[in-house]
Amino acid sequence: MSPGQAFIPYGCQSIDQSDIDAVCETLQSDFLTCGPKVEEFEQEFSSFVGAKHAVVVANATAALHLAMMVAGVSSGDRVITSPNTFLSSANCAHFVGATPDFCDIDPATYNLCPAALKNMMGNDVKAVIPVAYAGQSADMPSIAAIARQHNAVIVEDASHGTGGGFTHEGKAYKQGGHPWADMTVFSFHPVKTLTTGEGGILVTDNDEYAHRARLLRAHGITRDPATFQGLGSNNPELSEQGPWYYEMQDIGYNFRITDIQCALGLNQLRKLPSFIKRRQEIVSLYNKAFADVSWISTPSTRHPDDKEHISWHLYTLQIDFAALNMSRSEVMLALREKNIGSQVLYIPVYLQPFYRSTFGYDEGKCPRAEAYYTKALSLPLYPKLSDEDVEHVIATLISLKSDTI
Ligand SMILES: *Cc1c(COP(=O)(O)O)cnc(C)c1O
Repeated sequence: MSPGQAFIPYGCQSIDQSDIDAVCETLQSDFLTCGPKVEEFEQEFSSFVGAKHAVVVANATAALHLAMMVAGVSSGDRVITSPNTFLSSANCAHFVGATPDFCDIDPATYNLCPAALKNMMGNDVKAVIPVAYAGQSADMPSIAAIARQHNAVIVEDASHGTGGGFTHEGKAYKQGGHPWADMTVFSFHPVKTLTTGEGGILVTDNDEYAHRARLLRAHGITRDPATFQGLGSNNPELSEQGPWYYEMQDIGYNFRITDIQCALGLNQLRKLPSFIKRRQEIVSLYNKAFADVSWISTPSTRHPDDKEHISWHLYTLQIDFAALNMSRSEVMLALREKNIGSQVLYIPVYLQPFYRSTFGYDEGKCPRAEAYYTKALSLPLYPKLSDEDVEHVIATLISLKSDTI
């Protein structure tokens, strides 16, 4: 590869002229926020994934927070998630006063392990948040069977997996469109598969959850006369409900997203199938190249048929750094010298100082997640990567051990 090789980051958005045009058009329209693009994006997104409702918000962290509120999670409750995730999947439980708890992962898929979940379930668990790490869903049917025995609400954090899915007993299901989650959350941060700059969405088939999420997204305010409760006054002047009238019936937040962002999301949604396809192609190039490298383990899918359905956000290897005789930092630096970005995802959440001091969690809580973390390295993955870029990444990594293959 030429020394002039441009830097290849580990993740990157795909923005083209049609995205720019869509945003500019909305900037020149009457509504920058609270306008028609918000609803249009919700409708198109929910029909894309096959869910009844979609509630789009400022980011996926806000969507997870809403999921906890509408599920009625509160203090005294326990919420179980995977330690191999971004902080938000656990923080959302603490936002509503509950205790985030962590279930060890399956070493093959790096996702929450149903057998481990079964061992730590109890009736104090109000919600389970399986995370679709790298885009691949956890074993949702098994997890749902365990969670539902204890009446826990299931919220799939599919922030990595926008537009993706999996197979079960020969049938294909989409994240957000399968019966083993009560709510599903997606993120539209620029490193994720579809972007709105910042953004997130909560999808559900449950009318009540969707209604409450909409209310709490905007301060708990309603303007729907059918639901008005009144101001508690018999004074006709104080109790008049004119065209200005609104009620705050619950404590909500400002989690709104703009029409500018939803216009971008709508245009990105049209390209989502091609984004997913290119990501799948790159993953199979990597998998093929690393298949026989003794010190590299490639990610595995739960079922071979899932390969056509998963929307890969990350390409994460398990690397035997001891066999390579290099530390992970040295490997990342060697890649960086060849203009290749890489990333480590994730530090087990419970080892973070806040979690250790607030909940008393410590090393050894989830040994498989810890072992995974010490070997994890994610390589560049995004649709704009050319085959030559991918070859360059593969050749550079493999060349770190001179006697490889
Ligand atoms: C990115 C991410 C989030 C948070 O998304 P934001 O839109 O940045 O708030 C939550 N969970 C997971 C697994 C993520 O990767």
